[in-house]
Amino acid sequence: MMKRNRLFIVSVVIVAISLFVVVLLVDRSHKERDGKVSVIATIFPVFDFVRVVGGGRVSVSMLMPPGTEAHSYEPKPSDIGKLNKADLFVFMDKDMEPWALDLAAGLGAEGPKVLEAGLGVPVMLLESEEHVHDEDDGAYHTRSIAYDPHIWLDLTNASYIVKRISEELSEIDPEGTNYYATNASSYIDKLAELDAEFMEAVRNSSTRTIVHGGHYAFGYLANRYGLEYVAAQGFSPDSEPGPKQMMQLMDVIKRTGVKYIFYEELIEPKVAKAISEETGVGMLLLHAGHNVSKQQLESGVSFLDLMEGNLDNLKIGLGYHGI
Ligand SMILES: [Zn+2]
Repeated sequence: MMKRNRLFIVSVVIVAISLFVVVLLVDRSHKERDGKVSVIATIFPVFDFVRVVGGGRVSVSMLMPPGTEAHSYEPKPSDIGKLNKADLFVFMDKDMEPWALDLAAGLGAEGPKVLEAGLGVPVMLLESEEHVHDEDDGAYHTRSIAYDPHIWLDLTNASYIVKRISEELSEIDPEGTNYYATNASSYIDKLAELDAEFMEAVRNSSTRTIVHGGHYAFGYLANRYGLEYVAAQGFSPDSEPGPKQMMQLMDVIKRTGVKYIFYEELIEPKVAKAISEETGVGMLLLHAGHNVSKQQLESGVSFLDLMEGNLDNLKIGLGYHGI
């Protein structure tokens, strides 16, 4: 009888220890006290996609402060601390946020899972000719090839990224699999509808040229809808355009007869303003979505809101005349 009792007590203790270990493991995979999956996303589009797909099961924050320039963001030491408390770190792609790779490399063994959401998207290249001076001050030309990192501006790529985020969340939180898949699928439907509206707008417009006083962010959008696209700067807004680039933009305006120049979000549109004053064309915002202002973030602006704004402005800029 004694032996049986002892066996019973040993079994209870073993079960209790096992449960405790299970609780510990579960607790490790949900570091937030509220039981939600905690996610930190680098830039606005991935932040918003996680917010939509994750819904009530996920708490997500954007690593980059609102209003910050995304290409040249310099992570702070405190970012590592924040990330180590999260379950998942999501960034767009290594060409867009090279700094995210450095951050990921600095995470501890207990750190979050890392997802490069745009991995697998077919990337576009831009070949450019640069004017380089050698040591003897003689000039020669060189060709350089760079990857265009603004992959989310083709809405079919955005759908792919949304799907990848949904799959990753399901791996971390398998109980939410159906929930994430449903959210992703209804959002992908909305992206497809918007994509069709862009197609229709371009089909029924009088010009097909986007002249952009900002950096070269809309290559994917232009490619998707068969538009001609010229921009004042390269893939990131780190250099002031020279007189040569300004002349090129004005030549395109003359050649195509476009009535508007587009400018980018969050920075003073000096180039577009100068060209607008010189040529008399109007100015319109084309929002690439890298980041939003503090006020926009607080008011809950979404990626779809920004893209719908772009559709409205493209209709004006391209001379939409309806169906
Ligand atoms: Zn950019």
